[in-house]
Amino acid sequence: MKKMFINGIWSEAISGEKYKVKNPATGKIIYEVAYGDEQDANKAIEAANEVFATWSAKSVNERSKYLYKLYQIMLEEKESLAEAITLEMGKPINESRGEVNIAAEYVLWYAEEARRLYGEIIPASTTNKRLHVLKQPVGPVAAITPWNFPVSMLTRKLAPALAAGCTVVLKPASYTPNSAVKLFECIEKAEFPKGVANLVMGRSSRIGGAFTNNKLIKKITFTGSTDVGKQLMEAASKQVKRVSMELGGHAPFIVFEDADLEKAAEGVIISKYRNAGQTCICLNRLYVHRSIKEKFEKILKEKVEQLVIGDGIEEATEVGPLIDESAYEKVTYHVKDALDKGAVLVTGGELEKEGTLFYKPTVLTHVTNEMVITNEETFGPVCPIYEFDTEEEAIQKANDSIYGLAAYYYTRDLGKALRVGERLDYGIIGVNDAVPTTVQAPFGGMKESGTGREGGRQGIEGFLEDKFLSIDIE
Ligand code: NAP
Repeated sequence: MKKMFINGIWSEAISGEKYKVKNPATGKIIYEVAYGDEQDANKAIEAANEVFATWSAKSVNERSKYLYKLYQIMLEEKESLAEAITLEMGKPINESRGEVNIAAEYVLWYAEEARRLYGEIIPASTTNKRLHVLKQPVGPVAAITPWNFPVSMLTRKLAPALAAGCTVVLKPASYTPNSAVKLFECIEKAEFPKGVANLVMGRSSRIGGAFTNNKLIKKITFTGSTDVGKQLMEAASKQVKRVSMELGGHAPFIVFEDADLEKAAEGVIISKYRNAGQTCICLNRLYVHRSIKEKFEKILKEKVEQLVIGDGIEEATEVGPLIDESAYEKVTYHVKDALDKGAVLVTGGELEKEGTLFYKPTVLTHVTNEMVITNEETFGPVCPIYEFDTEEEAIQKANDSIYGLAAYYYTRDLGKALRVGERLDYGIIGVNDAVPTTVQAPFGGMKESGTGREGGRQGIEGFLEDKFLSIDIE
C-alpha cells in the first residue's frame, strides 16, 4: 500500500481507510493508497510547524545543500519516477522522462536561488535613521497539486518553499499518489530533517478544509482548476492566508499569413497533443489567417493523422489515454456540441477503440463563439480552428476569454511579433515557440488563470515576507 509521509514516517490513514488507483491505459487497479482526512492533515501541519523554527534558522548554504542532494537523487531515480507517472496518468514515457528532468531542474534552480534572498537598505529621509528590509519565510505552507504533471508541479512548489525556509505539507491529486510517493522517497533519501516536507493523501475537500482552517498554515499554494482555486481563495481569506493560484487556461494560438507554416503546424502538434491535450497551457483555440487556412489545415491534418496512439509505457507512443471516464465524457460533449452547431470534423472525433480511454487526436473547423469548446477548457486532444482577417481581429478574439494563462503566435514579421506580444492579456507567451515553459522564467496566469508566479526568481517571492525595520541610531 502507498503511504503518507508525515514527520519523516511512512503512515497509513488514522481512519485506516484506503482507496484504489487505476492505470488509465489498461483500466486495471495498480495499487491501494492510504486515504487520509483532516486528522492526518492536522498531524502533518503540526509536524511542519514544529520544525519550522529550526529549518528557517538554517543558513541558506545548508538549505541549498539538501536541495542539491535531492536534485542528484531525482536524476538517479529518473526512470522509476517517469514510470510511476506513466502508469498512473497515461502520459507517454518520453514525456514523463522530460517531466522528471524539468522537475529536478526546479530543485537545482531553487538550490541556487536560496543564496540570493537579498533584502534591501533604503536611504532614509533623516540622518538618524536606517531603513532595512529583510526577506523572511512566510511559515508552514500547504500545497495542493494536480494530476497532469504529478512530479514537476510538486517540485515547482516544494523547492522554492524549502529554499525560502518554509516547511511544507503537500497533497497531490488522488489520481497520481505514487508519483508523489516516489518523489518523497527521494526527499527521504536526501535526509531532510523530519517534518520539513510532509505528504498527505486522500479526501480532497476535508484535507483542503484542514489546510484553510488550521491557523498554523500561513500560505496555500494551489495548482488545479479555476473552480477549486476560487473555493480555496474564499476559504483562505477568513484568516487572510497568503495564496498563490496556478489555475486553468484556454490558450489561443494564432498563425499569421507570414508564418513558417511547417514550423507553426509542428507547434500545434506539440502544444495541443502533448499529454493528450491535458495541459493547462495547451492550445484551446487555433486562429488561422483566412488566406492560408486551407493550406494550413492540410499540413496539420497530415501531421495529426501520423501521431501514434497507445499505452504510454510503450516507447513509440505519442498520444496516451485520457485520465478517466469523466474526461472522456467532457471531450465527447465538447465535440458533439460543436458538430451539432455546425462545426466540421477534419479528423478524429471518436475513440481509437471502444471501451478504452484512447481518444483520437481531433481537428474541427468552422468553429464559432457559440460553441462550448470556445469558452471552456476541453482538457483533451481536440483542436478547434477559427479564421481571422486582420491583426486587430486576431488580438481581440484571442483576448476574449476569462482565462489568461498562455498564448502563442507565429509570424516572421518582427514589428508584429513585438506589437502582438505587448497586447495579449496572457502571463506566458510563445512567439514562434510552442514550449515556453522553463525553470528560469516566471510561469503563471492573468485574469481567472490565477495569481502569483512559479519558476524563475519570481517563484520564491510568494514564500517570503518583506519585513521592514526602521532603526533610529541615535
Ligand atoms: P482539480 O480538480 O482542481 O484538482 C487539483 C487538486 O485540487 C487535486 O489535488 C485535487 O484533489 C484538489 N482538490 C479538488 N477539490 C478540492 C477541494 N474542494 N479542496 C481542496 N483541494 C481540492 O484539477 P485537476 O483536474 O487535478 O487538474 C486540471 C486543472 O489544473 C486544469 O484546469 C488545468 O488547467 C489546471 N492546471 C493549471 C496549471 C497551472 O500552472 N496554471 C498547471 C497544471 C494544471 P483530488 O484529486 O483528491 O480531488
